[in-house]
Amino acid sequence: MSKSAARSIEMVEVGPRDGLQNEAKIVSTADKVELIRRAIAAGSRRIEVASFVNPKRVPQMADAEDVVAQLGKVEGVTRIGLVLNERGAERAIASGLDQLGAVAIASDPFGIRNQGQSSSESVAVAGRIIDFAKAAGRSAQVTIAVSFGCPFGGEVAADHVVEMARQLAAFGPCEIALADTIGVAVPAQVKALVGAVREAVGGLPVRVHFHNTRGTGVANAWAAVEAGASVVDASIGGLGGCPFAPGAAGNVATEDVAYMFARSGVETGLDLDKLLEASHWLAGVMGKDMPSMLARAGGFPKAE
Ligand code: ZN
Repeated sequence: MSKSAARSIEMVEVGPRDGLQNEAKIVSTADKVELIRRAIAAGSRRIEVASFVNPKRVPQMADAEDVVAQLGKVEGVTRIGLVLNERGAERAIASGLDQLGAVAIASDPFGIRNQGQSSSESVAVAGRIIDFAKAAGRSAQVTIAVSFGCPFGGEVAADHVVEMARQLAAFGPCEIALADTIGVAVPAQVKALVGAVREAVGGLPVRVHFHNTRGTGVANAWAAVEAGASVVDASIGGLGGCPFAPGAAGNVATEDVAYMFARSGVETGLDLDKLLEASHWLAGVMGKDMPSMLARAGGFPKAE
């Protein structure tokens, strides 16, 4: 690791939101709350607990309010709710969540198909959500989706993502996240884009979100932190298949990323044994093996 890179980073657990929302099997509210509690027990201090989206489009998230209510407030833990519009923001704030996650979209064809918004319209909507959250006394972050490539438009210009980050930073979010929504990024691209976005957003923390669709997710997380990203998303078990790549692996697995950082001297505050327990428990809930490599291989061998 380069001298300038962080010796500690923050990881955001996205399993209860991104991990579950593309799964066909509907998970009970009690099991979602249990997953969040297990993440907290493993040391997670920021968690995407639900998305407040149209339940007709994302049935898995129909119980978002119930998840937040049953979980309750947790001292020292930031509970994030993802929202795509003002209606979602109202619901998330009413539920009592600590932080709102807004989404801007780096490509027009993805924005129009996914949210009925062009890229520039999505920046304006995300800005309004940030304003709305702050007016309600909550913090807000914003994620730039398809930052590294688009399933419909192909290449996404890095300059465009950097300009979006600059515009979004002006609304005063607590961080800017770059998401590889479809899992196409490679480390050299990640290093270049994270570096350019960092320069564009002043001192604002840069967060990254990777899917392991093409096997580059964990390497991308490493490249991002080397380039100065200080917050990394991951999902327990690596759940979170991409709807544009059926059958592909999901989000980078929390335990895989935590293992890499721990063995590399980068502190995450996470307990690997407890993460693995949570991953095995989740495999039982989902009735299938998780994409996580560590769930299969185990951690570093202990001396006999
Ligand atoms: Zn994702």
